[in-house]
Amino acid sequence: MASMGRFTVGSQVWVEDADVAWIDGLVEEVHGDELIINCTSGKKVTANVSSVYPKDVEVKRCGVEDMTRLAYLHEPGVLRNLKSRYGMNEIYTYTGNILIAVNPFQRLPHLYNDHMMEMYKGAEFGELSPHPFAMADRAYRLMMNYGTSQAILVSGESGAGKTESTKMLMQYLAFMGGKVESDGRSVQQQVLESNPVLEAFGNAKTVRNNNSSRFGKFVELQFDQNGKISGAAIRTYLLERSRVCQISDPERNYHCFYMLCAAPPEDRERYKLGDASLFHYLNQSNCIKLDGMDDSSEYIATRRAMDIVGISSDEQDAIFRVVAAILHLGNVEFSEGSEADSSVPKDDKSQFHLRTAAELFMCDEKSLEESLCKRVMVTRGESIVRNLDSRAAALSRDALARMVYSRLFDWLVNKINTTIGQDPTSKLLIGVLDIYGFESFKTNSFEQFCINLTNEKLQQHFNQHVFKMEQEEYTKEEIDWSYIQFVDNQEILDLIEKKPGGIIALLDETCMLRNSNHETFAEKLYQKFKDNPHFSRPKFSRSDFTIHHYAGNVTYQTDLFLDKNIDYAVNEHQDLLHASTSPFVSSLFPPSEESTKSNKSTKFTSIGSSFKQQLQGLLETLSSTEPHYMRCIKPNNVLKPAIFENSNVLQQLRCGGVLEAIRISCLGYPTRRTFEEFVDRFSVLRPEVLGLCYDEVTATNMVLEKVNLTGYQIGKTKVFLRAGQMAELDARRTEV
Ligand code: ATP
Ligand code: MG
Repeated sequence: MASMGRFTVGSQVWVEDADVAWIDGLVEEVHGDELIINCTSGKKVTANVSSVYPKDVEVKRCGVEDMTRLAYLHEPGVLRNLKSRYGMNEIYTYTGNILIAVNPFQRLPHLYNDHMMEMYKGAEFGELSPHPFAMADRAYRLMMNYGTSQAILVSGESGAGKTESTKMLMQYLAFMGGKVESDGRSVQQQVLESNPVLEAFGNAKTVRNNNSSRFGKFVELQFDQNGKISGAAIRTYLLERSRVCQISDPERNYHCFYMLCAAPPEDRERYKLGDASLFHYLNQSNCIKLDGMDDSSEYIATRRAMDIVGISSDEQDAIFRVVAAILHLGNVEFSEGSEADSSVPKDDKSQFHLRTAAELFMCDEKSLEESLCKRVMVTRGESIVRNLDSRAAALSRDALARMVYSRLFDWLVNKINTTIGQDPTSKLLIGVLDIYGFESFKTNSFEQFCINLTNEKLQQHFNQHVFKMEQEEYTKEEIDWSYIQFVDNQEILDLIEKKPGGIIALLDETCMLRNSNHETFAEKLYQKFKDNPHFSRPKFSRSDFTIHHYAGNVTYQTDLFLDKNIDYAVNEHQDLLHASTSPFVSSLFPPSEESTKSNKSTKFTSIGSSFKQQLQGLLETLSSTEPHYMRCIKPNNVLKPAIFENSNVLQQLRCGGVLEAIRISCLGYPTRRTFEEFVDRFSVLRPEVLGLCYDEVTATNMVLEKVNLTGYQIGKTKVFLRAGQMAELDARRTEV
């Protein structure tokens, strides 16, 4: 983002700083390329001009609503603008067409009431303060006026506010497209109430967010010719399954478990539950209760939302039986059985939980035990029953719990879709995407790998779009614009998903081979990609690998890649639950094609490949829509209001492509001013333009000629300046 200015003694500047990213100060001395700067912190620093940016001295205290209005479009300017706005609870800011939202971590109800929706209805984009309602309104109007489908893509890291923002967007679209159905139950109400249901089963407290969505979601609202909502489809992506059996302190499992344990006494009795702290799947973490969340009332609220989305009370009962069964299942421990390497429930307590789980699943207790403690092996047409030792039995138990839960979640999504119903005739769609942002942790596993693949793909889509928008603006203003290359991440995408030969393909290959493990997988990667500039092997590592993502390097630990990529219900579990006398449970495990072919070998389905396919579908949908981008920013990691951490925010602006968008725009003509604004600011450089009655275009030209700038462009309504030219003009102005 080069936007270098000319610096003289007395220039106000921004200079890089290790603590606060950028600090402002005054140039005291100039020695060639070296500047001595007196910072506002009191520090005196020496810096090279290449790491110094000019500071705009004419900024309003409240900042600007659109970053592209900044005189100097550079990192420190962007940061200062967001920060000063945040300080005044102006949490929304545009960067051109992108809406940036900085999480306030406090309720700001005045921003989201009916009155606000009325105000934004039909208002010109940019006329009122930046707001998700403005974005939703623009999408809605573009759809109605031009008959084109729209998509609003919300992204940001965990806890940044994606889900909250998505709900506001949907609230506004429901407000615009709502209609009352004859039975009093409206589609828009069902769409809105799908949120609490999915949150109960798909959200959990993590260290990053007390209500973290552990799945991605794309909601497609369908409208009829009159702009009324006529149907909707919800697609979800990659629910985090491991959480069902394994949580680390101070996180929680999915909300629904705690809700059910806090249900009214008659329900707790019905599902044979007690306090949440009694269950292994919940008490691995010390966090049982959540500040500000009352599990008892959430239970009631979830039940009510389930009513609205058309889940009958019988179905609700069946669902909660399954939830309770999973908890009991988790309490079954195993010890060594009488035969070598065999296992049995450890004690009476384990036997009790096993029995209760079987009752709740409505399956045979003995069969449940066998499905956990034994495996049928098929070799050359012969089946042999093999015992599992206590460790393997515990793993089998967890696999069953995870599989049941993920099928339950898919069932809910399907059910909601069926109730709300699709409008196959609708050609007017608005999609809203709430999907996990780029992740880079201390240890990164298969989940991060899939999440970051998602972000690479969305980033490519975003870059192409931003680029196109820039070009369109130039064309509209009829100015020259030689094609400027932008960084494309296609090579990283190839590395990951190319078929054959990409990382996912190699992973699938490894999963299908006998005697393979994560080390043989890693070895394959090292061999294949040793010369790939986007791939590297960390020093001293035997099984980690690093991908150089657009947003930074991430090192992945391959240990669990194989296990996590393999998706199948083992036959024992499949047969057991299919035989359940609960039609609901049985329907979660329909006979697979394999078993109907009486072939008892387990079939391998790759999670990585099916996720890749799902993503492909998503991108195809998106490419037929006009996209709108919303970037959510988490200003601090303590989840408290009024704390704005510069470096943290910059990193997110970088990952969200905001800086890239700005960079692309800097390659062209980042500063645009109407002729009137330009003359206002710079007439002092050639005062005679004010005296005579020159038109503004002539006046603008005269000023620019006077200062000998080259490379700028005169458009139809605006003057387009190259990066740094605004600073140059300002410098001249102070010399006058
Ligand atoms: P994840 O990826 O973990 O699901 P997310 O980006 O969806 O995270 P949210 O759950 O939307 O994050 O937001 C986290 C928390 O931040 C919310 O529970 C809420 O407390 C607060 N928050 C977010 N946006 C707003 C807002 N506009 N007004 C008030 N509070 C907000
Ligand atoms: Mg969320």
